[in-house]
Amino acid sequence: MEHGRGTVLVRYGEIGTKSSKVRIDMERLLRDNLESMLASRGVDATVDHEWSRLLVRTDSPDKTDAACDAACDTFGVVSASPARSVAPTAETIYDALRDAAADHPDGATFAVRAKRAGTEDEHPFTSRDLEREGGSVVEAETGAGVDLDDPDRTYYVECRAEEAFVFTEKRSGPGGLPLGTQGTAVVLLSGGLDSPVAAWEMMKRGCSIIPVYVDLGEYGGVDHQARALSTVGELARYAPERDLSLRIAPAGDIVETLMSEVGATRMLSLRRVMLRIGEAVAREVGAHSVVTGESLGQKSSQTGGNLAATDVAVDLPVHRPLLTRDKTDIVDQAREIGTFDDSTITVGCEQVAPSHPETNATPEEVAAAEPADLLARADAVGRTVEVVAPDR
Ligand code: ATP
Ligand code: MG
Repeated sequence: MEHGRGTVLVRYGEIGTKSSKVRIDMERLLRDNLESMLASRGVDATVDHEWSRLLVRTDSPDKTDAACDAACDTFGVVSASPARSVAPTAETIYDALRDAAADHPDGATFAVRAKRAGTEDEHPFTSRDLEREGGSVVEAETGAGVDLDDPDRTYYVECRAEEAFVFTEKRSGPGGLPLGTQGTAVVLLSGGLDSPVAAWEMMKRGCSIIPVYVDLGEYGGVDHQARALSTVGELARYAPERDLSLRIAPAGDIVETLMSEVGATRMLSLRRVMLRIGEAVAREVGAHSVVTGESLGQKSSQTGGNLAATDVAVDLPVHRPLLTRDKTDIVDQAREIGTFDDSTITVGCEQVAPSHPETNATPEEVAAAEPADLLARADAVGRTVEVVAPDR
């Protein structure tokens, strides 16, 4: 027999350290975002805010799993636990423990950890009582051994004045801050592997994103564009009800010019063009920055010196969330968040790269080798983007 309704306990972290006004706004947004996430996944549930955490109530216990997954994909959530919610009496708590022990893994040691809020007047038992008695209940049910120091499974009991929770799992969420608390950033999205991870990292810290793909004409390709659009679709899963339409900027003519008129610093000029396009879009949509998936030294255009030479082309800050990350680590994360794609395509700009690229150009050298109207052309391209909605 199943004891209790389906509930998911949702914990958040950094929000709790904010001043009360900021915290209240962030908590409200986290709750709204979680509700949207649940709705987008067809999980019928309500979200309450109690005791510095959120409680998701599902209409049936078998929906707690899906509700917990939704919570663990919501930015700002540190961890979540599918729980049994029961009346706060010793007997109902032990019944719930017995239920929870039904799927105890064979041979696994265990511990019961209980937290009882309130006073002895409210509850005629202490946390220690719950742990001791609860331990006997689980032991009788499973025959498993107790290990208080390093248990294979922990049975958690949280007993409040009106309600008690029993759970065995704490699943990790992304952490960070609720989406929508940190304004909007433009993300240069290439169809490659790094830039969607960079976008996700910004979203994790609360930033809404506007993705921009720069169409390199002959040097890009429909497959890159299609890949960029499909990664936007993956990112959109983390941002239900938000517009993540891809902006496609037609830069084929500019690339032609670079190919015929610029040599060793061509790639850096292309970077500058991309940043300027991003900046033009940012101005249009009111974004505060431009984000790239660049990582220090990953490519010749990403040496410290070259990043400096490209940044001076724009006034807005350029954020690079992956600056210090190793490729293997970025690949692992792409798999984890669902933006990884097995198919290998040559990134368009590799075909633009000169055979002997400049690795340490000064901004002056790059600018001097560039056609005088290059960046103005980039601005114009940034104002004529095509907007394409992703499949959700
Ligand atoms: P990615 O970095 O997305 O995996 P990549 O590593 O193959 O692709 P890089 O040459 O490292 O591509 O590009 C560096 C960054 O420049 C990308 O992370 C992305 O932010 C931006 N970028 C590159 N090409 C494009 C493009 N065609 N459209 C928009 N942004 C681009
Ligand atoms: Mg890269």
